[in-house]
Amino acid sequence: MAMRMSSLFLRTLRDNPADAEVPSHQLLVRAGYIRRVSPGIYTWLPLGLKVLRNVEQIVREEMDAIGAQELLFPALLPKEPYEASGRWDEYGDNIFRLKDRKGNDYLLGPTHEEMFTLAVKDLFSSYKDLPLSIYQIQTKYRDEARPRAGILRGREFVMKDSYSFDVDDAGLDKAYTLHRDAYIRIFDRLGFHYVIVEAMAGAMGGSRSEEFLATAANGEDTYVRCTSCGYAANVEAVRVPVPDAVDASGLPAAHVEDTPDTPTIQTLVDHLNEAYPREDRAWTAGDTLKNVIVMLVQPDGTRTPLAIGLPGDREVDEKRLGAQVEPAEVAAFEEKDFAAHPELVKGYIGPGALGEEGTSGVRYLLDPRVVPGTSWVTGANEAGRHVIGLVAGRDFTADGTIEAAEVRAGDACPSCGHDLETARGIEMGHIFQLGRKYAEALDLKVLDENGKQVVVTMGSYGVGVSRAVACVAEGNHDELGLVWPRELSPADIHIVATGKDQSVFDKGEELTRELEARGVSVLFDDRWKVSPGVKFKDSELIGIPTILVVGRGLADGTVEIKDRRTGDKREVPVDEAVDAVLAELGR
Ligand code: ATP
Ligand code: MG
Repeated sequence: MAMRMSSLFLRTLRDNPADAEVPSHQLLVRAGYIRRVSPGIYTWLPLGLKVLRNVEQIVREEMDAIGAQELLFPALLPKEPYEASGRWDEYGDNIFRLKDRKGNDYLLGPTHEEMFTLAVKDLFSSYKDLPLSIYQIQTKYRDEARPRAGILRGREFVMKDSYSFDVDDAGLDKAYTLHRDAYIRIFDRLGFHYVIVEAMAGAMGGSRSEEFLATAANGEDTYVRCTSCGYAANVEAVRVPVPDAVDASGLPAAHVEDTPDTPTIQTLVDHLNEAYPREDRAWTAGDTLKNVIVMLVQPDGTRTPLAIGLPGDREVDEKRLGAQVEPAEVAAFEEKDFAAHPELVKGYIGPGALGEEGTSGVRYLLDPRVVPGTSWVTGANEAGRHVIGLVAGRDFTADGTIEAAEVRAGDACPSCGHDLETARGIEMGHIFQLGRKYAEALDLKVLDENGKQVVVTMGSYGVGVSRAVACVAEGNHDELGLVWPRELSPADIHIVATGKDQSVFDKGEELTRELEARGVSVLFDDRWKVSPGVKFKDSELIGIPTILVVGRGLADGTVEIKDRRTGDKREVPVDEAVDAVLAELGR
């Protein structure tokens, strides 16, 4: 049925809502697509719901095309499966928990690995039942710390999640590739620019993992790409190319020196250049080894300190560190923690206090650049003193390495060695090889060809369906309003009747019916006593790509077809209007 604006449940707004900062959020609210209920929780108004359903349809078609089967799990879930997988605790504050009248624990599903795994376990038992891919398009709930940009990061949102089940790794690879190709088709159809970046499998385990990021200057995710080869990766996933070990045989012995009032890298470098000038060049921050202490908080609340040694010209990147220590969370190492560890002298911590053999016993991990044979200025574990010429491998060792240092533009590409550059994006989809983690935790096994029980291997594939609406809006608008790609538009055509002449409205109605009969969906602005200016503004704000104006020209037998995307206008004889619209729509 055509939507008629005289009765459509829609109010467009002149002003941007106060809480909306990004254009997609402003425009989706102003054009009457969504309406806020509470932070991160939105109502889909009729126009918005149409766009959301269009996105769902694209996703559904492409999933069906690779043989995935649609089902639907409940959003309200019992605690037990999530306890079995450990995620009831791991999720911490990020899930909505609730109790039934008997006091039993439930949650609103943030993601459904457990349910998919258990459903397959329930019904299938043989390798002959596999491979299997199943998916749902469903509302998820996450108590996001920072809901943002309207539906871009909501606390209630729609996701497509699918899972593949295979007996062996080759099967998983095949399922992964099928999904990857389907995702390329989905994101091409959605009509935005995106990059596929290498990602971390994170807490989920598994091996191959890639994210589809919509490129957006105000995106939350930073990724890096190579300026030379095709390498692109999420910042969390970048692996620093490890330099070769250095021959340290000719290096002088380390010596401890007084460096009063040098608790920061800059004060230390200044002091070194003044008191211990080098002959070859000046000291720089990159000559110092900075030891950063953080507190890791495990899901069960256990707190253990961790020391990270990295070149003094780099900071620890919270996201990279977070991804490495998952499911533990990173907290600050506070004054009271220093008080409990008197061996750690704030501002002067050195390797001597760290690691299994250090005086504090605090676990010590090094940046991969700190290879054997490299020489450093670092803390001497006494206030106001540093050690110069401390050589990795000769004078100190650590408990291992960690990828936690920031990645910077100009760093070497792990793939080809050329410079990396950074860019920003919005995560639209994530595909990864889950492996056997959930199948093991929930005991999903099938009989293989030899009658032996084997653990099933799984892949997990998500698309942010509601986020895609915001993302497409973000990438397709101008100063006047939204500009939808055809496949997502809430209607194929926006017919605008202007003026006070009944014949104009009658003709608009007639064209609406004729076009509808030809399978074209119509938004008809049939409002009486609304000025043409307001109607045109609304049509620009709403953003249906083709607009048919029935107005003054009708007296001379013409109507106007406007392209919202280019602003092009042309007059066509009213008798040819239907064919002209069909041609415009490529039908
Ligand atoms: P993010 O890093 O953005 O928090 P995620 O890695 O937690 O996302 P997944 O669990 O991989 O997300 O979910 C699959 C997809 O669901 C994401 O790629 C994203 O498009 C979408 N998504 C995740 N969280 C939200 C949210 N709060 N609001 C809207 N869409 C979301
Ligand atoms: Mg993800």
